[in-house]
Amino acid sequence: MIVAMQEKATEEQIDAVIDAMVDSGVNVHRTTGAYQTILAGVGPTANVELRKFELLPGVLYVHRITAPYKLAGRAFRPEGTQVEFANGVKVGGDHVHVMAGPCSIETREQMFETAKRVKAAGGAFLRGGAFKPRSSPYAFQGLGIPGLELMREAADAHGLLTVSEVMEIAQIEPMLPLVDCFQVGARNMQNFNLLRELGQMRKPVLLKRGIAATIEELLLSSEYIMSGGNYDVILCERGIRTYETSTRNTMDISAIPVLKKLSHLPVVADPSHGTGRRDMVAPMAKAAVAAGADAILVEVHPNADKAASDAAQTLYLDQFEKLVGELRLIATAVGRSF
Ligand code: PEP
Ligand code: MN
Repeated sequence: MIVAMQEKATEEQIDAVIDAMVDSGVNVHRTTGAYQTILAGVGPTANVELRKFELLPGVLYVHRITAPYKLAGRAFRPEGTQVEFANGVKVGGDHVHVMAGPCSIETREQMFETAKRVKAAGGAFLRGGAFKPRSSPYAFQGLGIPGLELMREAADAHGLLTVSEVMEIAQIEPMLPLVDCFQVGARNMQNFNLLRELGQMRKPVLLKRGIAATIEELLLSSEYIMSGGNYDVILCERGIRTYETSTRNTMDISAIPVLKKLSHLPVVADPSHGTGRRDMVAPMAKAAVAAGADAILVEVHPNADKAASDAAQTLYLDQFEKLVGELRLIATAVGRSF
């Protein structure tokens, strides 16, 4: 930690800050400049509450140097993590993957048609929500486990992996045979009890960034899962809420290189929720691949306009196929396989 003292700080104030730092268990290195004194604290500061130093008389600001997340930090695995699935598919390596499917699982025909086209386009994952976090309690809430059974059947028929959102601890157990990857939605990014329980599983988790979460908060949430021993976490940028109203959310493309720098975990981009608009999905998907995303998560539906949820941001299957062709060009241009 670094404590910068105010220019007018007195020796007594500086001594009091040094004493407080030593009391917290850190070694203090003092640098006295022409105008300002800087105190560098070296030692275990993860549990030290920095704010208490900010309040001491004479202190200008306090900074943490080491990240508060350890397992998710790049230093833990400098070479990067590849999350491997049962069929050998790896997310986080050289290959850029496609995860696609409807926002909500609705019918058998919908899931089989979608699975066929996702597979044909080269996708490895079929997505589909069965437990839906809807803003309104009167909106379609999802088919639950019978829906996941449909998705499992469609995915197995076409050799695809499944990813679906889990909203509460009680859903984990029944979902285990039906999903290859648990999705934690934006609204649950800080449902710490759910995250801890998923940390006890040995199944990959796709963790979405919260609607108003900072990148550090996303990484701390991934730390909850990893601290239980489940290191197979995939991070997902899905847009954040800003003052801009042209799009449903503001797709933070820059979060992709930032996460890649700070963490070793694979990063997925979801331009569907990131923009909320069918016509903006393709440009943002392409930007995300160019920016280093390890996979694209996109909502598609055979009859997109009639989708039971998120219709406005859902691609028709032919639009999806066109997009995949374009993503292949971008991925190749930035040195990835696709
Ligand atoms: C979804 O994937 O359909 C979904 C609800 O996503 P998010 O949690 O990002 O809103
Ligand atoms: Mn959706």
